[in-house]
Amino acid sequence: MSKIVANDVKWRDISPGGIICDAGNAALFKTGDWRSIRPRWIEEKCKQCSLCYPTCPDSSIIMTEEALMRGFDYDHCKGCGVCAKACPFGAIEMEEEA
Ligand code: SF4
Ligand code: SF4
Repeated sequence: MSKIVANDVKWRDISPGGIICDAGNAALFKTGDWRSIRPRWIEEKCKQCSLCYPTCPDSSIIMTEEALMRGFDYDHCKGCGVCAKACPFGAIEMEEEA
């Protein structure tokens, strides 16, 4: 078997980066690492209206089977702030990442 030297590897031989090849695989990767701000749930203000849930583009709002809001999946939340805008009761605030 011949030894592969780094200089012999051409760009066409390398797997393309930044491409998602399979649908529905986002749950397998922690994609919240590049978030700079994060949502904070203020439970005492929450009326459990569920309005925030369908607004999240990353399905990062945690809901129980009884449709009770329980916080955020920070492994996947991107910190976009849409949920905070959608909450009519001020129960979600955006704050700087620690
Ligand atoms: S900040 Fe954006 S990504 Fe994170 S939970 Fe709210 S809507 Fe989803
Ligand atoms: S929109 Fe606000 S009040 Fe309604 S469930 Fe979400 S956090 Fe709670």
